[in-house]
Amino acid sequence: MSVIVRQKTLKSAIHCRGVGLHNGLPVSMILRPAAPDTGIVFRRTDRGGAEIAADWRHVVESPLCTTVDNGEGLSVATIEHLMAALAGLEIDNAVIELDGDEVPAMDGSAAPFVFLIECAGIVEQNAPRRALKILKTIRVTDGASAASLTPGDGFSVSFEIDFASRAIRRQTITIGLDADSFRGELAPARTFGFLAEVDALRAAGKALGGSLENAVVIGDDRVLNAEGLRFDDEFVRHKALDAIGDLYLAGAPIIGRFRGVRSGHALNRRLLGALFADRTAWTMTRMTGAPAYSGFWREDAERASA
Ligand SMILES: [Zn+2]
Repeated sequence: MSVIVRQKTLKSAIHCRGVGLHNGLPVSMILRPAAPDTGIVFRRTDRGGAEIAADWRHVVESPLCTTVDNGEGLSVATIEHLMAALAGLEIDNAVIELDGDEVPAMDGSAAPFVFLIECAGIVEQNAPRRALKILKTIRVTDGASAASLTPGDGFSVSFEIDFASRAIRRQTITIGLDADSFRGELAPARTFGFLAEVDALRAAGKALGGSLENAVVIGDDRVLNAEGLRFDDEFVRHKALDAIGDLYLAGAPIIGRFRGVRSGHALNRRLLGALFADRTAWTMTRMTGAPAYSGFWREDAERASA
């Protein structure tokens, strides 16, 4: 028996302040409820309330974060962790007000955004939830990096990274997503960077707001943060989190399996471009019932307990 799933928004508005990871500037953000079929929309209060939709077609090339830009000088940077929280908690409609051009970094993970959304509360709306159902495999590659979407029940994310640093090395994860597995297993995983790259990033005007407060920093093959890691495999969990945020720019939740191998924001965007370029690869459907599975798949549960 299938149950109609309804769209969701926030019960009330909620405010936070923080600093942009890249521009280093203070920014104030308000998450507001929005009507059915609004989607996720960014509103720049410092630019007369000009709006830009969280849509993959607005994503511009920026290697270190995901930025939407309307081509007329209106942009919002580093949206991926907030987008992941909205995707993970199944929020269809929200207006994100900002008085600057970058989402606050908070602690470098999606957990503070999950906390904000849960404080605001979540309400169902009188409209059916639509989902983007994958009908055939779409794959994009860039050298040794690859990203793909494959048909499947529910939504799952599989990721593999392989870094030379002894602090990371090879890590893999496969996880079926619902609000509980997202909240517990992925949302707290923080962004990460290498101390050796910080000077070059700052010279390029990036990571100006980055610190041990909002990123895991690796130097000399070890984690420099005094508190250590939140998960042994926090790095690959964060990459899965990034992919979930990037994929939500499709404009609807995905029914299918994502797999990323050393992929990042640019490849995730190309994957959505390739998907939408092939009209036989997807269909819009009403979401029904509960997901078929959630949490780690069996092989990962065995690996985790080994
Ligand atoms: Zn990230």
